Formats: sequence, structure tokens, C-alpha cells
Amino acid sequence: MSPATNRPSTVDERYRGYPTRLAQQSADAQKSRDSLYSHRTLPDSVPRKQSLRLPPDSTLETFDAAITALQHQIGRSNVVLNDKPLVDGWYLEHPNTHDAFHIVDQEDLVASAVAYPGSTEEVQKIVRWANEYLIPLWPISMGRNLGYGGAAPRVPGSVVVDLGKRMNRILDLDEGNASCVVEPGVSYFDLYDEIQKRKLPLWIDCPDLGGGSVLGNAVDRGVGYTPMGDHFANHCGMEIVLPTGELLRTGMGALPGRNETNNPTWQSFQAAYGPYTDGIFSQSNFGIVVQMGFWLMRETGHQSYMFTFPREEDFPNIVEAIRPLAQSRVLGNIPQLRHVVQELNVTGLPKTHWYSGNGPIPRDIIREHAARLPMGECSWVFYGTQYGDPASIDSQLNIIKSTFSRIPGMKFFLPKDVPETHYLHSRAKVCAGIPVLRELDWLNWKPNAAHLFFSPITPTRAADAQTIHAINTRLHAKHAFDLFPTLCIAGREMHYITNIIFDRASADEKRRANALMRDLIAEAAKEGYGEYRTHVLYADQVAATYCWGGNALMRFNETIKDALDPRGVLAPGRNGIWPQRYRGKGWEILGRENERAVGGGTIAPKL
Ligand code: ADP
Repeated sequence: MSPATNRPSTVDERYRGYPTRLAQQSADAQKSRDSLYSHRTLPDSVPRKQSLRLPPDSTLETFDAAITALQHQIGRSNVVLNDKPLVDGWYLEHPNTHDAFHIVDQEDLVASAVAYPGSTEEVQKIVRWANEYLIPLWPISMGRNLGYGGAAPRVPGSVVVDLGKRMNRILDLDEGNASCVVEPGVSYFDLYDEIQKRKLPLWIDCPDLGGGSVLGNAVDRGVGYTPMGDHFANHCGMEIVLPTGELLRTGMGALPGRNETNNPTWQSFQAAYGPYTDGIFSQSNFGIVVQMGFWLMRETGHQSYMFTFPREEDFPNIVEAIRPLAQSRVLGNIPQLRHVVQELNVTGLPKTHWYSGNGPIPRDIIREHAARLPMGECSWVFYGTQYGDPASIDSQLNIIKSTFSRIPGMKFFLPKDVPETHYLHSRAKVCAGIPVLRELDWLNWKPNAAHLFFSPITPTRAADAQTIHAINTRLHAKHAFDLFPTLCIAGREMHYITNIIFDRASADEKRRANALMRDLIAEAAKEGYGEYRTHVLYADQVAATYCWGGNALMRFNETIKDALDPRGVLAPGRNGIWPQRYRGKGWEILGRENERAVGGGTIAPKL
């Protein structure tokens, strides 16, 4: 397939494009898309086996009547049937109808229709409509949580509620309070762009890729890399449509302001009076968040840097060295420790450039290639950033260097020590709250590349680091995948994230990637490690590992779910939480059984 010749769209031309003013993004987007498409062997789309996937228990007739009723309420053009061929697209032109990185058949986790509300009132109308017609809804902000299911609903035939297209306003940007209030369709690019336009001395915090929704990422408890990288911890106040259509404000927003204005402390203090309710609306299916407040960081000095360590076996020693630095807050942000194989991967060159054999790249080949890269031969690479004035950055860096000097052969690099194209320059931007697209280069590793994240949490301790690394190494070898570990290391816990890259065109790779995920979840749980987030397909299995006290946590979640959503319409199965109407009817996917679905089966039993 030849590279695309036309340029990627701006946000003015197409919903989900890049902001027109960010010229650099345009160049990066063009490069990224062209190189991705040059490795594609699949056509844009193939004819569908089933032209429309109906919601459970619907007939074409009842569904048509329901859709007509909804179109009547929110406008004909704002409810679109998903009966066209499915196009996987790429990051800035991704689908809202299915998972672009399908691990089961492309048509399995698929919407019946997409609704585009333009206001909170329209979200309420959609929810009441779903209660009337018993149609499952799947709310997304922008649907860009790739690697975790994208926009795909867990129950095939759900109606995706795409909030981002028409609800995309920055409702407040308060320089004095260093905070903002956003609707679901505000991306990191958009918020950054607005702050630049107004020349405010504020920073946003973005994850590795800048196209996602600020609100959507936070409700899924995503993270970024400045000192305000815990997105949910840095939110302040939410407005939520409950599954029955009622409206709720959390935090100080529950107390009306003078003359029916918003509460003046809504974005200043996180809790209200009584239980702290916000948490139950993250990673759940208890409500649709239509507004959310966030704290922003004040602009400051910053210095990104990199350490390399030559010996593979020093991994636990590096983790031990990081812990006290993180606990005493000498480290300025949540740093990343990556295996050197990612240095090859993040160049954006395909795997075949480095290795022509089958299976994972052998260690000695990685070593040979790494030796020719700017940082030279090594096994582990540490990316960090310090913040503040130059004198404090210097003194922090001296402490960090002296701690790491205990690890033999360590080397220290600043961005000026490596070429402009090196990944360190892109990290420096992300760590200063500048959204980028560089991380997309991973996807050039394989043709038709898709990926899945395995994201367990362990204590920041040598023994735990070794245990989880050994499980990953063994199981990746067993299922013949390259292991790409990135560790985000804090003072007490670390996110050990592996990126499983597979070819969407290969039924065999999909089957192996699925088996690898299943094994990883099961084996990590045996050692007491659980995932902080997972793809929709693995939600049941992951939720089932949190089973202490005879599944006390899930029983608690189900009690809340049944109280808030008695007709079970909102995102059934999200995070493994099934409403009563679905429970015990064979919807949960706990183990290998979904392998049957890979390549064309169904995962949707009748209610
Ligand atoms: P992003 O584009 O930032 O990655 P998504 O829109 O993909 O975010 O959201 C991540 C997940 O969080 C979605 O799959 C969805 O289940 C849930 N979600 C997103 N936005 C909302 C919302 N406004 N209300 C409730 N749940 C949401």
C-alpha cells in the first residue's frame, strides 16, 4: 500500500484533527501517518459480514423505532447508524465505532450507532431514551485510549455516546487560581493551544500522546509526566449525568453560588461535605461526566536528562536507587525507566530494519545496534526531569548523579548531548506539558501494527521488580513477542507497563497476544500484583483478581451500580461491573474462552 499523499486534517476540517495553529504538529502528524501507512498491507476497509450489529434483545424494527425517536429528540444528523464498512484509520482519524486495535474480530466490539449530544440536556435526553428502550450506552470523550479498547463498547451493539464532537468548550481558564473547567471534547492540544493563545504562565500535564481528551483520560485514571501527572488527583469538581438522567455536581459545586452562579470555591477545594464521591465516577459505569475542573501547573524552569546503565542485571539496583530519591521528592516528576530495546523501537524504524529473524530480537542483536545509537551500548535508560530555578535544578541533579554513580558504568546525558531526533527531546517537551505525537512511532515496528498495554502495579522494591520482570520475560518468550517494558517509578509503587505490539492482519499474532495478556494477568495476580487499567476485553478477568473477602469489592460496586442504574443501561461490563440485568447470563469473559471469538465468532450471548 502506498503512503497517503494528502495531509492529515486540522480540527477545523475534521473532528479529531490537530489544532490549526500548531504547525509543528502538522509536520509531525504528516510524517507519522505516512510512515504508518507505508507499513500497511491491509486495505482501508473490507465489506462487513453483518451490516448492522443490533443491541442485545433488539429486532431491526424495535431498533429503527428507537433510533427515529432519538433523532427526533437531538437532531437527525446527531444520531448516526454504524452500518458502513469499519475503517481503523490512524491516531488523529481514529474510529468511534469499534476498536481500531482489534484483538478479537473487528466486528465483535462494535457499536450499533453513534449519538453526538451538544449539551448536558441532550446527554440527559439520551440517557432517558436508553432507559425507555433498554439500549446499552457507551460514553466516550474522544475515544483515544488506544491500547485499552479505544472507543469500543464492551457489549456489541451498544450506542456510543460521543461527547467530544459537540461538547468541546473550555468553560473556564482561571490564571489566578491556576485551574480550568473543560467539556469532554477538549484535547491536550486544544487546552495547550488556548493557554498559548492567551499567553498565560500556565502548564498543562499531558500523557505521551497529545490528542486525547483531558477529561476522558482523567476519568480513566491516566497519567502524565510533570509534577501534576496524576490526572485524577489533580481534578477539582465534576458535573455528572447519572444513569437515570439526573444531574449531580461533586465537590464544592454541590453548594450553589450566589444568585445561582457556580460555587466560587468549586475549583479550589476538592471535597464537599460528607463522603468523597468523585472517586466512584472514575473507571466506572456510574455516570457520564459532562464537565470537570482541573488544576494547572505554574510555568517553571525545567531540565530533562537521561542516565544509561550498561548491565541488564542491575535492574533491581536501579529500582532501589530510585526509591529514596522519589520518597524524598528529589526526583522532580514520575521518571521512566525503559529497557534499551525501546531505543530501537522509538526511532520509528520497523523491526525488520534491526532483525530479519523470526521471534523476539535476541539480546546480542539489540546490544550491537544500541552501541551505534547516540547513547551507546547499555541495558536500561532512565528519563527524568527536574523543576525550579537553575540553582535548585543543579543541586538536585548533583544528588541524583551521586546516587546513581553507585551503579557501575552509568552515563549521564542532557538533551544537548544527543541529536535533535533523539527521543530525549520529545520527552523534554512532554515533561514540560507540551503535547506531542512522537510516541506513535512505536507503531512502525510491525506492519498493520496495533498494541495492547499490560499495566500491573508493584511496590518500588528490588524483589518485586525482579518478580514482575521475570513473569514478563518468561511469558513474552513463551508467546514469542518482544518485551517492551517502561516503568513509571514513584516512591512507593511503580507502574510496570509493557506494550504488546501485534499485526492486526495476522490471526495468529492476535491469538498469541490475547493468550499472552490472559497469562500475564493470571500469573501476576498469583504474586499479588494487579493492573491499574486494562483493555475492555480483559476487564472481567482483571476485576476478578481483586477478590479479597469473597469478592467484597465487586459486591460493593454492584450494589452501587444497581442503585444508580436499575435498568442497566450505562456501559454494562465497563471495568468488569455488570448491572443486574446482565449478571450471571454468560457475559463475563474470565479466561481463554474469548479466543473462540478471534477471527470471527461472537462474544455476545442473548440476554
Ligand atoms: P481519551 O480520548 O482521553 O483517551 P476516552 O474518551 O477514550 O479518552 O475515554 C477513556 C474511557 O473512559 C472510555 O472508554 C470511557 O469508557 C470512559 N469515559 C470517557 N469519557 C467519559 C465521560 N465523559 N463519562 C464517563 N465515562 C467516560
